[in-house]
Formats: sequence, C-alpha cells, structure tokens
Amino acid sequence: MIKKFNFLLPFIISIIFSCSNKKITAVDVLEARIDTLLHLMSLDEKIGQMNQLNSTGKVNDFFELIKSGQVGSFLNEIDPAKINEMQKIAVEECRLRIPLVFARDVIHGFKTILPIPLGQAATWNPELIEAGAGVAATEASETGIRWTFAPMIDISRDPRWGRIAESLGEDPLLTSILGASMVKGFQGKSLSASNSIAACVKHYAAYGAVEGGRDYNSVTTSEQALREIYLSSFKASVDAGAATLMTSFNEINGVPSSCNEFLLKKVLRDEWKFNGVVVSDWASVEELIPHGICVDGKDAAAKAANAGVDIEMVSSLFSQHLKELLKEGKVTEKAIDDAVRNILRLKYRLGLFKNPYVKINVKSSAYSEEHLKLARELATQSIVLLKNKRNILPLKKGIKTIAVIGPLADAPYDQMGTWVLDGDAKFTQTPLMALKQEFSNKVKILYEKGLEFSRDKNKSNFKKALKASKMADAVIIFAGEESILSGEARCRADISLPGAQSQLIEEMKNSGKPIILVILAGRPLTIQKECDLADAVLYAWHPGTMGGPAIADILLGKVLPSGKLPVTFPKMVGQIPIYYSHKNTGRPVGEPLELIDDIPVAAPQFSVGNYCYYLDAGDQPLFPFGYGLSYTTYKYTDLDLSDTIISAGDKLKISCNISNTGNFEGTEIVQLYTRDLVGSLTRPVKELKGFQRITLKPGEKKQVIFMLSTDDLSYWNANMKKVAEPGKFRIWLGGSSESGLETEFTLCER
Ligand code: BGC
Repeated sequence: MIKKFNFLLPFIISIIFSCSNKKITAVDVLEARIDTLLHLMSLDEKIGQMNQLNSTGKVNDFFELIKSGQVGSFLNEIDPAKINEMQKIAVEECRLRIPLVFARDVIHGFKTILPIPLGQAATWNPELIEAGAGVAATEASETGIRWTFAPMIDISRDPRWGRIAESLGEDPLLTSILGASMVKGFQGKSLSASNSIAACVKHYAAYGAVEGGRDYNSVTTSEQALREIYLSSFKASVDAGAATLMTSFNEINGVPSSCNEFLLKKVLRDEWKFNGVVVSDWASVEELIPHGICVDGKDAAAKAANAGVDIEMVSSLFSQHLKELLKEGKVTEKAIDDAVRNILRLKYRLGLFKNPYVKINVKSSAYSEEHLKLARELATQSIVLLKNKRNILPLKKGIKTIAVIGPLADAPYDQMGTWVLDGDAKFTQTPLMALKQEFSNKVKILYEKGLEFSRDKNKSNFKKALKASKMADAVIIFAGEESILSGEARCRADISLPGAQSQLIEEMKNSGKPIILVILAGRPLTIQKECDLADAVLYAWHPGTMGGPAIADILLGKVLPSGKLPVTFPKMVGQIPIYYSHKNTGRPVGEPLELIDDIPVAAPQFSVGNYCYYLDAGDQPLFPFGYGLSYTTYKYTDLDLSDTIISAGDKLKISCNISNTGNFEGTEIVQLYTRDLVGSLTRPVKELKGFQRITLKPGEKKQVIFMLSTDDLSYWNANMKKVAEPGKFRIWLGGSSESGLETEFTLCER
C-alpha cells in the first residue's frame, strides 16, 4: 500500500517540512525524488544500475539488457546517434525510464589534446587547468559523454611508473589544488548544464606508490603516510564537489582497494561525507580473485558491494551474484539501496532525467580556434627551461640556418601522449610545422630526423644529420619518448632516452654548433649526460595538439618559459624514489661529500663520511621539484613575517619583494615552503604550503603576500589526529624547492 503511493513522497516531505518550519532545500527535494524512485525499483532493476558495460558499438548487443533495466551505464560509446538510440531504449521502453549515463576516459582533452596532466601540472596554473578541463568537457559532451574518468590525482614519486604521465606530480598540495581545478573545469558551474561532465577522481588509493614503479603492483604503507601523502588530494577533490570516484587496482597492506572498507566506508563516507558514486576500475572486482582475497566471482561481488563499490565496471559479477547473495544474507538490502541512491543522485545531478538525449548535428567545437588557443597556452606554460648556457635561448634574430634534428620534431601522433582515445593526429601541429611557419623564408630549416622513432637504434642517418648540423647556426634536437612508452602498464626500469637518441645528441655535438635539446616525454627521464652536452634544454612533456606552436613560441622568445617541475628529476634510476619532501634522517649529508671517484684506493673503513647518500649519485637530484628557469631573472628580497610567534588559530602574514632583474617581461611561480623542525613524529625537510604566479616587467618589483594559518601547519600524528604542534618552524620563499629566502617562527602553546 505504502509502495503504491511512493510517487507522492516528495510532496509529503514538503508538507512535513513546511509544518516543521524548516525551509525545504533543493537537496531535500532531490533526496525525496531518489527515495521515491528507489521504492519503485525491483531488486533486479537496482542491481542493473550497478552494472557498467563496455560498448561494442553495436546497439543490438545491448537492446534486451537496457530494456529490462540490467545495465545502468556504459563506457566507450562516442557515437551520438548510438548514444541516443541506447538512451531511447532506456527512457522509452524500460519500465522505470531511468536514463543511462555514458562515460569515457577524457584525460587531457577529448579531440583537442592538451598537454599530458604531468605537463599541465608544470604550469602551476589552476585557472588555466580548469579552463582546459572545461574545453575537454565541452567537446566530449557534444557527443553525449557525460562522465569522464579523470582527473587522476595519485601522488607519483616514481618516474618508472608509466602512469606518472597522467598524474599531477609528487606533491600533495599541488595535486590537491590542480586536481580540484580539473574537477571544477569538467563539472562547470552546474553539473546539469549540457556541456558539463561528471569528474571521477582516481585511483583511490595510493596507486602511485606501487612497489618498484611497476603498474598494478602492491603498496605497503602506514595509515599515517596514506593520510598525509596519498589521501589529501582525494579529500580536496571531494570537497570541490567531485561527483564520482574510482577505486584503484592495487592492494594496500594486503587489502585491494575494490574491497577496502577502511578506504571506502570509514574515510570516504564516514569522515568525508562523500555522497557521489564509487566505480570500480576496469574488472577490478573480478581481479579480487587473482589478488588472492576472494575464492570466486560470488565472493568478489559480496566483498566489493559490502565495502562500498556502487558501480562495477565491466566484470558484471554484481549482476550475476548480488540477488543470491542478498537471499543468503551475505549482502544487505541497505548496501544495495545505498549504492543505487548514489547512482540515481548522479543521474539527477547530470540532468539526465530531464534531458536524456544529446543534440545531434550541432556544430562541433572540436579544434575550434578558441580551444586550440587554450591548448597552446597550456602547452606554452607547461614547458620547463632546464638549462640555458650563455643565454643561447631565445633564438637570436641574426640566425640564418637552423638544423632541426630528431625523431620527435615531426611526430604528430606521439606528441599527443598517452590516453588519447579521440584526438586526431591530423590536427596536431608539430614543432617542425610551427618553426617552418614562424620562419617562413627568413630562416632556412634543414630537417634531418637522424632516427625514425624514439626507440630506433639504426645510426645510418646520423651522417646526414651531422652534415645538416654543420651547415646550421644552431641545432635543435627533438628527442624523448613515443607516446606508447608511458601511461597505463607502460613502466620502464631504465628511464634514459630510448634507442640511439643519446648517441645522436653526442654526434650532433661534433658539429661544434650550439645544441638546443627539446625533450618530449611522458615522464622525467634520466638525462644528465644529455643536459651536459646541450647548451639549452627545454622539457616539453607530451604537449598535445598545439605542442609545436607552443615550443616555437618559447624557442623564439615570443613567450617566456615559466614552467616549474611538478616532480623531482633523478640523475639515475637507482635514486628512485626521490622527492623533495623527504625526511632528514639521523645522518643527513654533511660536507664534504665523498663520491666514488674521490675515494682513495684501500681507503680505511671510516675515512668516508657515514651519510644518507649514494656513492655514485650523491644525495641530490638532477633537477629539484619546483625548478625551472626563464629568459629573465628574479631577485627575492625583504622577507618579512607579521609575527615571529603565533598561536593556534592565528594567521601569519608572509611577504617578500620580487624584482625582475633581466631584460624581458616574465612570470615567476613563487613557492612557499615550511619545515616543522621538531614534531611528535619526524617531519619532511620541506613541505609546499602555497604558490603564486606573478608577472613582472623588466626592472619591476612587486610584493607577494601569503597568509599561513595554523591549520596549514597541521599533520596526521601517531593517533591519526590532524594537529599543529607547538614549536619552531622554518620558512622559505623562493623559485624552487631548493632556493629562497629563509627565516623562522614559533608556534606557541596556548
Ligand atoms: C584504467 C582507468 C580507466 C579505465 C577505463 C583502466 O584500465 O586504470 O584509469 O579509467 O581503465 O578505461
């Protein structure tokens, strides 16, 4: 009887609320709608919503499943006509007319490809990154995609891990800020706008910490480290309104994420109050079996559903087993209802009940002038100048001939990078194309690849490349990695330049001409030797559709480099993991440091210092986190604190002056770091606490101000409480994690 009148629920609720004088909010109405619909659903229909399938492109394959409500969402259908056809079955032929939602991996652009996320992170520009995600959302939503599996906000401190390309780098704060920007960009002002798509923060959790940087591998960490390093970016995105979240493939301390109640219930739902959708990663529910934590599919379905997975991606074990599991009392009706509530909430928030269809035949905005402009700006800001000996860059006006060498100078597909499912290489503008256009007839370009592709070991074309280089005033070598060498399951134990690229650079050095090295890659590479050989080095990541013009803008000095590394660059693989916010240890390096070649033969046991370092690599990276040069220089002066003693709840004002001491207008990324000198647990030697982009004309001086709250000084202590502990703090303001003005203040007991 009650069930029959469920459709009246929203009205009943509104009457109750009006009688109780409490204002009805839109959320109350939405929740009432969800409950009403939930009450009308059969168990099969509920379980159907929890089933996500991969589209085969053939609507007929799914007709019956959709009609009978056995599937709630699809991934990988991008044909708007087919999306509408499938949606029509759901909303016109299925009993309860619940719309489907269509998902896709729109990772760094849909058609217009933006730099890989790691490159975007090098911009340290939240607003631009938000706008980039907005472009991706607009293009994707035009085909009917309303859900992307992005952003990936896994903290990544291991460049062997191929998925570092998809990450926003090594730092929790930078990732938190930029990840939240992406969420906002995808989801727009309102998720129900037709050009908004739901974000999905992934991969929850600690996927970037896989042992040895080998994808899908195990993670062993403490709860403290988990909370401090790996979870904070997820919390920030949840707070920014992320509509969905994806579980990771890896286990943490023996528990795979798709059945991890601690992560999915305690932290995500109870502590963070997340009311969005949790989707498992591709078949990760089924993978609970090979993980060795479930005996079979039924067991896996039970463990995943009980842990709090709402939607199972592709393995369909929920569909096969949840009904029986409920009968047997191994899964509760509440677990299923909670999941379905989250799913319906997403569909309502996306406005799919009102507007289930995508408009067909609208003019696509893909590759529009506006989108290309934004892609170019993001790519330009992502480029990091690592070296510029004798100010060889920007290229000087008098140059008559340039040699363009290397396998990535004109590689339209590869410069788009990993996870590009929809971008069309036809639209890519390569560095060679851009340089030809920029120089037109004024500068002669001699183009010799030298190597056909990044892994090529055939040196037979080196001669031609050297001949071209000898005839030029400057040599620009485009080296790096093809797109297939980074991304999911694309891990490398050796992260040097693949193939014979290093030898190609050596050979070009014999031309005696200035060498400008431009690296296009999906990860930090160990390029110490190549950096020594080159006069200037630009790190351009995989820069996407507009990478060519962006690189040309920087080479010619039309735009000044402003990118800063979002991740530490090791000198050699053996230093990994290497990151700026490491602990001091009881044996930090003291001077002088003796390296392997400094040690005399038959040196006595204790003649070499006992420090925390490598005999062959020292203790320093090749380039530190936050590092990046420009064509101008900046001077930091007048560091000032509003107080040197603060207490809980206070805000500390930190300021300094920055002057542009060079000859060009430029943008500096000012970074604020602190160190908690003594804690109840040991603390990192530095932690990023804030950053600002500041643009200065030559000779101009500006003051930058940061406000630091005592909350910003807090961390997870041994009792899993976030606390700011009294004591001394050191503070740095500078242009990288290894430079800056320095002072101290004290947080006192109240
Ligand atoms: C990846 C996810 C991705 C999913 C769907 C998985 O293999 O780990 O990041 O979103 O596939 O394509």
